[in-house]
Amino acid sequence: MGGANRTNLLDLDRQGMEAIAVAFGAKPFHGRNLLKWIHKHGVTDFEQMTDLPKAFRQRLAEETRIDLPEIVFEQPSLDGTTKWVLELHDGQRIETVYIPDGDRSTICVSSQVGCALDCAFCSTAQQGFNRNLTTGEIIGQVWQATRELGRPPTNVVMMGMGEPLANFDAVVTAMNLMTEDLAYMISKTRVTLSTSGIVPALRRLKEVSDVSLAVSLHAPDNALRDRLVPINRKYPLEALIPACRDYIAGEKRRKVTWEYVMLDGVNDSIAHAKALIRLLQGIPSKVNLIPFNPFPGTDYRTSPPDRIDAFRERLIRAGIITITRKTRGDDIDAACGQLVGRVRDRSRRQLRAAQVPSSGGGA
Ligand code: SAH
Repeated sequence: MGGANRTNLLDLDRQGMEAIAVAFGAKPFHGRNLLKWIHKHGVTDFEQMTDLPKAFRQRLAEETRIDLPEIVFEQPSLDGTTKWVLELHDGQRIETVYIPDGDRSTICVSSQVGCALDCAFCSTAQQGFNRNLTTGEIIGQVWQATRELGRPPTNVVMMGMGEPLANFDAVVTAMNLMTEDLAYMISKTRVTLSTSGIVPALRRLKEVSDVSLAVSLHAPDNALRDRLVPINRKYPLEALIPACRDYIAGEKRRKVTWEYVMLDGVNDSIAHAKALIRLLQGIPSKVNLIPFNPFPGTDYRTSPPDRIDAFRERLIRAGIITITRKTRGDDIDAACGQLVGRVRDRSRRQLRAAQVPSSGGGA
């Protein structure tokens, strides 16, 4: 047995497949064919991989595994969005969301089980953090979605559970597989990594990848952002903004997408809009205003539609491309910030919360 110690072929990119082919006495191109069988054709039975030498197939069967996250639950939304709950080999659960929009099909992919970042308005944060996903568990979400849809998605957003830049290597390898010609062949501009702003990792990303960048900004000044996105205390706007500018520097027509959740009475005034315009001055930008999606236990409320409209108009007048992101899948808790798996928190956040002495006469 010892299956868990075997190499999971889903963890390997093109170079990895070539290397394993050579290690097993086959040729590099056999490794490339193996990659195609698994990702392009969705075949996981080595017997069906008829252009691979028999001896190679035998060793693959004996010494490797193809360990896919399993769809245990599929929940369609009234607006066409579908949420898949996937179970990993250790029983942890993550969520992947499919968002159809005309010709476009977008998959929202998770990068961690839970999240350690503790953003004030996000329900994944409330679950705490358990562990990073492996490359196989990340690309496995795309594998499953491709089989469900009958074709690869046109777009992938790394906007599911977790902070992708906190799981750097696994995420970069998985994104390479998304754009790989022998695998999913998704255009680099249609793979978007969203981050809350881990600046050193963002600078490293520029060295190894050129996927599209989205940044969870949510506030135009440090005092407010410190509260909403606590990682800002470590990497404040003076560090984050130049790193974002540098990420797209030299790439024509590239823009940074700034995500900005609209919280009633918190960050949604005209003064905030003006500060945001100043902050983004000179950076090719697109702003996505996200109406806040509520979840149980939150005190935040979404801004009223007319305030969102006024905020958007203000940015547009300043020459910034701004859209209000359509809320999708909120009837099935699949909208931004509503994804929660079955996470065993290892960050001890819940423990800390339970130890806070209660004030007043609450139950
Ligand atoms: N950790 C990464 C990836 C998550 S992307 C990041 O922070 O960018 C998910 C997006 O939804 C982020 O912009 C996040 O800030 C936003 N979001 C989180 N909770 C939300 C909520 N309740 N309503 C609307 N958007 C939310």
